[in-house]
Amino acid sequence: MKVPPQPLPTYSGLTPFRNWFRHGTPVLMYHKLGPRPPGVRLKGLYVGERLFRKQIRELAEAGFSGPNYDQVISTRPEQKQVFITFDDGFENVLRHGLKPLADHGFKAMQFLVADQLGRTNDWETCEGEAEERLMDTEQIRDWIAAGHEIGAHTLTHPRLTRVSESQAREEIAASKRKLEDLFGRPIRHFCYPYGDHNDRTVELVRDAGYETACLVSGGLVVPGADPLRLNRIMARYASRSPKSLLRQLKARWNWA
Ligand SMILES: [Zn+2]
Repeated sequence: MKVPPQPLPTYSGLTPFRNWFRHGTPVLMYHKLGPRPPGVRLKGLYVGERLFRKQIRELAEAGFSGPNYDQVISTRPEQKQVFITFDDGFENVLRHGLKPLADHGFKAMQFLVADQLGRTNDWETCEGEAEERLMDTEQIRDWIAAGHEIGAHTLTHPRLTRVSESQAREEIAASKRKLEDLFGRPIRHFCYPYGDHNDRTVELVRDAGYETACLVSGGLVVPGADPLRLNRIMARYASRSPKSLLRQLKARWNWA
Protein backbone atom coordinates (compact mmCIF):
# COMPACT_ATOMS: atom_id res chain seq x y z
CA MET A 1 0.00 0.00 0.00
CA LYS A 2 1.44 3.38 -0.98
CA VAL A 3 1.34 5.92 1.83
CA PRO A 4 0.47 9.48 0.76
CA PRO A 5 2.76 12.31 1.94
CA GLN A 6 2.46 13.54 5.52
CA PRO A 7 -0.11 16.38 5.69
CA LEU A 8 2.11 18.59 7.91
CA PRO A 9 5.69 18.12 9.15
CA THR A 10 4.57 18.15 12.79
CA TYR A 11 1.49 17.04 14.73
CA SER A 12 -0.53 19.40 16.89
CA GLY A 13 -4.03 18.03 16.41
CA LEU A 14 -5.90 15.24 14.65
CA THR A 15 -7.89 17.12 12.00
CA PRO A 16 -5.31 17.32 9.17
CA PHE A 17 -4.10 13.79 9.98
CA ARG A 18 -7.41 11.94 10.27
CA ASN A 19 -7.41 10.41 6.78
CA TRP A 20 -3.68 9.93 6.63
CA PHE A 21 -3.70 7.82 9.82
CA ARG A 22 -5.71 5.20 7.90
CA HIS A 23 -2.51 4.33 6.03
CA GLY A 24 -0.36 3.35 9.01
CA THR A 25 0.17 3.69 12.75
CA PRO A 26 1.36 6.96 14.28
CA VAL A 27 4.11 6.88 16.89
CA LEU A 28 4.03 10.38 18.34
CA MET A 29 7.24 11.86 19.74
CA TYR A 30 7.02 14.30 22.64
CA HIS A 31 9.78 15.79 24.78
CA LYS A 32 8.62 18.25 27.47
CA LEU A 33 5.20 19.01 28.93
CA GLY A 34 3.99 22.08 30.78
CA PRO A 35 4.96 25.75 30.88
CA ARG A 36 8.14 26.89 29.18
CA PRO A 37 10.75 28.42 31.51
CA PRO A 38 12.28 31.74 30.43
CA GLY A 39 15.08 31.56 27.89
CA VAL A 40 13.95 28.41 26.11
CA ARG A 41 15.34 28.14 22.58
CA LEU A 42 13.42 25.19 21.10
CA LYS A 43 9.95 26.30 22.17
CA GLY A 44 8.20 23.68 20.04
CA LEU A 45 9.54 20.89 22.26
CA TYR A 46 7.22 22.04 25.07
CA VAL A 47 3.56 21.04 24.87
CA GLY A 48 1.32 22.68 27.48
CA GLU A 49 -0.72 20.39 29.72
CA ARG A 50 -4.02 21.68 28.33
CA LEU A 51 -2.98 21.04 24.74
CA PHE A 52 -1.58 17.61 25.65
CA ARG A 53 -4.88 16.70 27.33
CA LYS A 54 -6.77 17.90 24.25
CA GLN A 55 -4.55 15.86 21.94
CA ILE A 56 -5.04 12.65 23.92
CA ARG A 57 -8.79 13.23 24.35
CA GLU A 58 -9.28 13.87 20.66
CA LEU A 59 -7.46 10.64 19.73
CA ALA A 60 -9.51 8.65 22.26
CA GLU A 61 -12.77 10.17 20.99
CA ALA A 62 -11.78 9.25 17.43
CA GLY A 63 -11.50 5.61 18.53
CA PHE A 64 -7.73 5.32 18.95
CA SER A 65 -6.22 3.32 21.80
CA GLY A 66 -2.78 3.89 23.31
CA PRO A 67 -1.49 0.37 23.94
CA ASN A 68 1.69 -1.06 25.41
CA TYR A 69 4.72 -0.19 23.27
CA ASP A 70 5.59 -3.88 22.70
CA GLN A 71 2.67 -3.95 20.27
CA VAL A 72 4.36 -1.45 17.95
CA ILE A 73 6.00 -4.37 16.11
CA SER A 74 2.72 -6.01 15.14
CA THR A 75 0.48 -2.96 14.80
CA ARG A 76 -1.81 -2.57 11.80
CA PRO A 77 -3.62 0.60 10.72
CA GLU A 78 -7.09 -0.91 11.07
CA GLN A 79 -6.43 -1.44 14.80
CA LYS A 80 -6.43 2.34 15.29
CA GLN A 81 -3.51 2.33 17.70
CA VAL A 82 -1.34 5.32 18.53
CA PHE A 83 1.92 5.05 20.46
CA ILE A 84 2.82 7.95 22.72
CA THR A 85 6.57 8.34 23.26
CA PHE A 86 8.60 10.82 25.28
CA ASP A 87 12.31 11.33 24.72
CA ASP A 88 14.91 12.01 27.42
CA GLY A 89 12.94 11.34 30.64
CA PHE A 90 11.94 14.86 31.71
CA GLU A 91 10.43 15.30 35.15
CA ASN A 92 7.79 17.68 33.74
CA VAL A 93 6.21 14.74 31.88
CA LEU A 94 5.59 12.98 35.19
CA ARG A 95 4.05 16.18 36.58
CA HIS A 96 1.83 17.13 33.63
CA GLY A 97 1.36 13.90 31.67
CA LEU A 98 0.11 11.23 34.06
CA LYS A 99 -3.44 12.47 34.50
CA PRO A 100 -4.29 13.11 30.81
CA LEU A 101 -2.88 9.67 29.94
CA ALA A 102 -4.75 7.93 32.78
CA ASP A 103 -8.04 9.66 31.96
CA HIS A 104 -8.10 7.91 28.59
CA GLY A 105 -6.25 4.71 29.50
CA PHE A 106 -3.30 5.53 27.25
CA LYS A 107 0.12 3.97 27.89
CA ALA A 108 3.26 5.91 27.12
CA MET A 109 6.94 5.19 26.65
CA GLN A 110 9.83 7.19 28.12
CA PHE A 111 13.23 6.80 26.47
CA LEU A 112 15.78 7.43 29.24
CA VAL A 113 19.34 8.75 29.14
CA ALA A 114 20.74 6.17 31.55
CA ASP A 115 23.73 8.08 33.01
CA GLN A 116 21.70 11.26 33.52
CA LEU A 117 18.85 10.02 35.73
CA GLY A 118 18.03 12.62 38.41
CA ARG A 119 20.31 15.13 36.72
CA THR A 120 19.62 17.63 33.92
CA ASN A 121 19.68 17.91 30.13
CA ASP A 122 23.45 18.56 29.85
CA TRP A 123 23.51 17.72 26.14
CA GLU A 124 21.10 20.63 25.55
CA THR A 125 22.32 23.19 28.10
CA CYS A 126 25.83 22.97 26.57
CA GLU A 127 24.24 24.40 23.42
CA GLY A 128 22.48 27.19 25.32
CA GLU A 129 19.12 25.49 25.99
CA ALA A 130 17.25 26.07 29.28
CA GLU A 131 17.93 23.57 32.04
CA GLU A 132 15.30 20.96 32.87
CA ARG A 133 15.35 18.22 35.46
CA LEU A 134 15.26 14.57 34.43
CA MET A 135 13.37 11.96 36.46
CA ASP A 136 15.38 10.21 39.15
CA THR A 137 15.03 6.49 39.86
CA GLU A 138 12.19 6.97 42.36
CA GLN A 139 10.23 9.08 39.87
CA ILE A 140 10.84 6.52 37.14
CA ARG A 141 9.43 3.88 39.48
CA ASP A 142 6.33 6.09 39.85
CA TRP A 143 6.10 6.31 36.06
CA ILE A 144 6.28 2.50 35.75
CA ALA A 145 3.81 2.04 38.63
CA ALA A 146 1.34 4.21 36.72
CA GLY A 147 1.41 1.58 33.95
CA HIS A 148 3.89 3.22 31.61
CA GLU A 149 7.08 1.94 30.06
CA ILE A 150 10.75 2.77 29.76
CA GLY A 151 13.25 2.30 26.96
CA ALA A 152 16.88 3.26 26.41
CA HIS A 153 18.18 6.44 24.80
CA THR A 154 21.93 5.78 25.36
CA LEU A 155 24.02 6.68 28.41
CA THR A 156 24.84 10.33 27.62
CA HIS A 157 22.83 11.33 24.50
CA PRO A 158 25.63 11.54 21.89
CA ARG A 159 25.25 11.59 18.11
CA LEU A 160 26.01 7.91 17.62
CA THR A 161 27.53 8.24 14.14
CA ARG A 162 30.02 10.84 15.41
CA VAL A 163 31.57 8.83 18.24
CA SER A 164 33.93 5.87 17.90
CA GLU A 165 32.44 2.46 17.27
CA SER A 166 33.47 1.20 20.70
CA GLN A 167 31.87 4.24 22.34
CA ALA A 168 28.68 3.79 20.32
CA ARG A 169 28.57 0.12 21.32
CA GLU A 170 28.97 1.07 24.98
CA GLU A 171 26.30 3.81 24.82
CA ILE A 172 23.84 1.37 23.24
CA ALA A 173 24.56 -1.82 25.23
CA ALA A 174 25.45 -0.40 28.66
CA SER A 175 22.33 1.79 28.80
CA LYS A 176 20.21 -1.33 28.34
CA ARG A 177 22.07 -3.23 31.08
CA LYS A 178 22.02 -0.29 33.47
CA LEU A 179 18.26 0.28 33.16
CA GLU A 180 17.57 -3.46 33.45
CA ASP A 181 19.65 -3.63 36.64
CA LEU A 182 18.07 -0.53 38.15
CA PHE A 183 14.45 -1.32 37.39
CA GLY A 184 14.47 -5.14 37.21
CA ARG A 185 12.70 -5.38 33.89
CA PRO A 186 13.77 -6.17 30.33
CA ILE A 187 14.59 -3.14 28.19
CA ARG A 188 13.51 -4.05 24.66
CA HIS A 189 13.21 -0.69 22.97
CA PHE A 190 15.78 1.88 21.92
CA CYS A 191 15.62 5.42 20.55
CA TYR A 192 18.47 7.03 18.54
CA PRO A 193 19.42 10.46 19.98
CA TYR A 194 18.63 13.10 17.30
CA GLY A 195 17.55 10.16 15.11
CA ASP A 196 21.23 9.93 14.19
CA HIS A 197 22.10 6.45 12.90
CA ASN A 198 23.70 4.53 10.04
CA ASP A 199 23.82 0.84 9.05
CA ARG A 200 26.57 0.17 11.61
CA THR A 201 24.61 1.82 14.43
CA VAL A 202 21.60 -0.32 13.57
CA GLU A 203 23.80 -3.44 13.76
CA LEU A 204 25.05 -2.41 17.21
CA VAL A 205 21.45 -1.97 18.36
CA ARG A 206 20.61 -5.42 17.02
CA ASP A 207 23.72 -6.96 18.68
CA ALA A 208 22.73 -5.44 22.03
CA GLY A 209 19.44 -7.36 21.85
CA TYR A 210 16.89 -4.60 21.32
CA GLU A 211 13.67 -5.52 19.52
CA THR A 212 12.91 -2.04 18.21
CA ALA A 213 14.60 1.31 17.70
CA CYS A 214 12.94 4.52 16.62
CA LEU A 215 13.83 7.63 14.67
CA VAL A 216 12.68 11.21 15.20
CA SER A 217 10.60 11.60 12.05
CA GLY A 218 9.70 9.77 8.85
CA GLY A 219 5.93 9.43 9.13
CA LEU A 220 3.76 6.43 9.92
CA VAL A 221 4.75 2.90 10.90
CA VAL A 222 3.37 0.63 8.18
CA PRO A 223 3.09 -3.18 8.22
CA GLY A 224 6.47 -4.70 7.31
CA ALA A 225 8.44 -1.68 8.58
CA ASP A 226 12.02 -2.29 9.77
CA PRO A 227 11.64 -2.60 13.58
CA LEU A 228 15.10 -1.07 14.11
CA ARG A 229 14.20 2.02 12.04
CA LEU A 230 10.69 2.86 13.20
CA ASN A 231 9.30 6.15 11.97
CA ARG A 232 7.79 8.68 14.33
CA ILE A 233 5.93 11.99 14.04
CA MET A 234 6.97 14.99 16.10
CA ALA A 235 4.16 16.32 18.28
CA ARG A 236 4.46 19.97 19.22
CA TYR A 237 2.38 22.95 20.13
CA ALA A 238 0.61 24.68 17.27
CA SER A 239 2.57 27.80 16.50
CA ARG A 240 0.60 30.36 14.50
CA SER A 241 3.36 32.86 13.83
CA PRO A 242 3.69 33.78 10.12
CA LYS A 243 7.29 32.54 10.16
CA SER A 244 6.27 29.17 11.53
CA LEU A 245 3.39 28.80 9.07
CA LEU A 246 5.72 29.59 6.18
CA ARG A 247 8.24 27.05 7.45
CA GLN A 248 5.51 24.41 7.65
CA LEU A 249 4.32 25.19 4.13
CA LYS A 250 7.86 25.01 2.78
CA ALA A 251 8.45 21.66 4.45
CA ARG A 252 5.08 20.44 3.20
CA TRP A 253 5.98 21.02 -0.43
CA ASN A 254 9.69 20.37 -0.08
CA TRP A 255 10.62 23.87 -1.07
CA ALA A 256 13.27 24.08 1.57
ZN1 LIG B 1 16.77 12.76 23.02
